[in-house]
Amino acid sequence: MHIDDAVFLEDLCPKFRFRQWRKSIHRFTGKSCIYCGKPSESIDHVIPQSQGGLSTTENCVPACLSCNGDKSDENALYWYRKQKFYDPRRAMAIRAWLDGDLRLAIRLLQWANPNFKVKNKNYVKDQSEYKAA
Ligand SMILES: [Zn+2]
Repeated sequence: MHIDDAVFLEDLCPKFRFRQWRKSIHRFTGKSCIYCGKPSESIDHVIPQSQGGLSTTENCVPACLSCNGDKSDENALYWYRKQKFYDPRRAMAIRAWLDGDLRLAIRLLQWANPNFKVKNKNYVKDQSEYKAA
């Protein structure tokens, strides 16, 4: 598909844009739940829509169905603290995500999950420097 066609299609069909946006959210974490690290199957509103949370990238995180369903309408950070799989690094990542600092959020998630696929070459470089020090 030609790039101009894609833009045209998005303008014509908001649902298509919404799908692309959802995909990009999942891509940030390598399709893993921001709370527990399992495969993400849904998008969760950190601040629930019922509490005025918006459908923006800053307020929407990839989550598995179990976390999304269990959290329901609770505030995410408050709910997350009570979970058995609570990890302070992930809590920091969620906070960074809310602040719109996705780079920091992704770094914290990588730190929390050693199996996280590292695609950022700078990150690998930083790690080797750290080992050498
Ligand atoms: Zn989860």
